[in-house]
Amino acid sequence: MTAEDSAVSLADRWSAVMMNTYGTPRPALVRGEGSTVWDESGRAYTDFTGGIAVNTLGHAHPAVVEAVTAQVSRLGHVSNLFVSEPAVALAERLSALFGRPGRVFFANSGTEAVEAAFKIARRTGRTHMVAAEQGFHGRTMGALALTGQAAKRDAFLPLPGEVTHVPFGDVEALRGAVTEDTAAVVLEPVQGEAGVVPAPQGYLRAAREITHATGTLLVLDEVQTGIGRTGHWFAHQSVPGLAPDVVTLAKGLGGGLPIGATLAFGKAADLLGPGDHGSTFGGNPVACAAGLAVLETVEAENLLPQVVLKGAELRRGIEELRHPLVREVRGAGLLLGVGLAEPVAARVQRAAQDAGFLVTATGTSTVRLAPALTVMEEEIAALVKELPGILGA
Ligand SMILES: *Cc1c(COP(=O)(O)O)cnc(C)c1O
Repeated sequence: MTAEDSAVSLADRWSAVMMNTYGTPRPALVRGEGSTVWDESGRAYTDFTGGIAVNTLGHAHPAVVEAVTAQVSRLGHVSNLFVSEPAVALAERLSALFGRPGRVFFANSGTEAVEAAFKIARRTGRTHMVAAEQGFHGRTMGALALTGQAAKRDAFLPLPGEVTHVPFGDVEALRGAVTEDTAAVVLEPVQGEAGVVPAPQGYLRAAREITHATGTLLVLDEVQTGIGRTGHWFAHQSVPGLAPDVVTLAKGLGGGLPIGATLAFGKAADLLGPGDHGSTFGGNPVACAAGLAVLETVEAENLLPQVVLKGAELRRGIEELRHPLVREVRGAGLLLGVGLAEPVAARVQRAAQDAGFLVTATGTSTVRLAPALTVMEEEIAALVKELPGILGA
C-alpha cells in the first residue's frame, strides 16, 4: 500500500464513522513541529491556520510538552470536588494579566466559556441580551442564541432568548437596543469567524458607556482574540482603560489542549454561586498546566511585540503584492483576514495547500491567517513569495 492509498483510506474511514458535520476532510496530519506539519505521505506544510488560532506556540513546543507530561504523570484529573494547584495558579495568572481582581470559571471549550457568561448574565435577574450580527460565539444552544449567523442558527430555533442582534460597529444601533432590561451585551473585539472584522475605532468604548448607563454587563468574547493573538494579551487592551465585566477565553489558552475560561470582574464575579454552574473536566490539571506553560512562554519569549511586528510584516507583504484578487487585509496582529475580490476563498485554500501552506477559508471571500505566535519571519516571507502563484491558480 502506498502512502497515498493509506491517506485515502483514512479519509474513507473518517467519512464512514464520523458524523458529517465538517464537510470534506483535509489531509490527515500526523506530526507537527513549530509551524510545520506533516501529512501521512510525509509531505510538509507551513501551518498558517494555527489549528484555528489555537496553537499559540506552534506544534510540540517543548514548554507545553514538558508541562503536560509532568502533570499527567503526577496527577491527571481530580474533578472540582478537590482543589488542584495548576487551576489555581492559572486563574491567578490570568487575573494578573487583567490588572484587576477577578474570578475565573474553567471549562473545556470556547462555547462553554460563553455558556458560563450567558448564565452569569441571567443571574443579573434580566433576560434580554444584545449581540452582533455575524458574530460567532459557539455551537451549544446558549452560545448559538448569541451567534448572529442565520445559517448556523436557523435549524435549531427556538434558541434561548431573548437576544437582539445589531449591526456590528454601529454605535447608534447598539444604543437603541440596550435598555435597563438588558442583562448583557456580548461582542467580539475582532469578529473572527465572520471573516476577521475588527470593531471600528471607538465602538468598544461606546459599548462600555452604553452598558454602564443601563447597568448592563459588557461581555467580550476573546475566545479567538485572546492570549496574545493581536499583540496584546487580550485584544480589548488596545483600548486603554477599557474594563469589561466578563471576558471569555479558550482557543489559544491551552496551546493545543482543550480549555476554556470565563473571567468576571467586580459584581459580575460573584453572580454565580454554589450549585449554579459546573463542569466535571473544568480546571483539569493537565489542561491548566498547558495554559500556564503557554502564558509563561509568551512572556519569557517576549512574544507580544513580535506578534505586532510579524503581523505587520505579513500584512504589508500581502498588500505590497497589489494583487487584483486581494481587496484588503483586515485584522490585528497575527489574526488576519485576506478579503478577496471574488468568492473563491475555498479555491485559494486548496491552491495554498497544493503549494505547501495551510490557510483557512472563512466564508466565501476571506482567507484567514492565524499562525502560531512563534511563526518565523522566513515562513512569512515564504508565504508572501508564493502567494501570487497561489492566487493565480
Ligand atoms: C471559536 C469561537 C468560539 C467557540 O469555541 P469552541 O471551542 O469551538 O466551542 C466562541 N467564540 C469565538 C469568538 C470563537 O472564535
